This record gives sequence, structure tokens and C-alpha cells, in this order.
Amino acid sequence: MVEPKAIIHLFHTPDFVPPSAEPSPAFDCDMCGEHFDGEPAGSGLFMWTRGEEVRFEEPPLCEACAQNVTLDALTRFEVEEEEEG
Ligand SMILES: [Zn+2]
Repeated sequence: MVEPKAIIHLFHTPDFVPPSAEPSPAFDCDMCGEHFDGEPAGSGLFMWTRGEEVRFEEPPLCEACAQNVTLDALTRFEVEEEEEG
């Protein structure tokens, strides 16, 4: 005779574990470090040159910093212009 037993299913579903990076858009401002939800007000475009290497980065920025960085980037761009030859 087999005694009736409670059937307990243990679901080991690693897929159910939420990923560390949540899909919902949330960013930390790259400038002031302020955490904000939603898409960044603007992604500041960083551009700088190291020798022959030109790099671009678009870090998430809050609204206030986005404006500052934009101006700063434009200023740098003019300053870093070098004459070749
Ligand atoms: Zn900011």
C-alpha cells in the first residue's frame, strides 16, 4: 500500500529570478550621481581625443547636467582644436 502524500513541487526556475539590471529605465546621472527614473533628459555627448584616438561616450544625465555638459562639450571642442602640420 502506498500512503497518499502531499505533492509538493519545488520549482527551481533560475529564469524566474529577475536580472540584476531591471528593464525599467532608471539611471544615475553621470555628473551629479543623482538617481532618476525614466529615460535620461539628455545624454551628454563626451568627445575627447587622445593622440590619434577619438572617443565618444554618451552617459545618462539628468536634465540640469545635460545642459551643462552640452555647453562644456562644445567649449572643449573648440579648445581642443589643434592645427595639424
Ligand atoms: Zn545631474
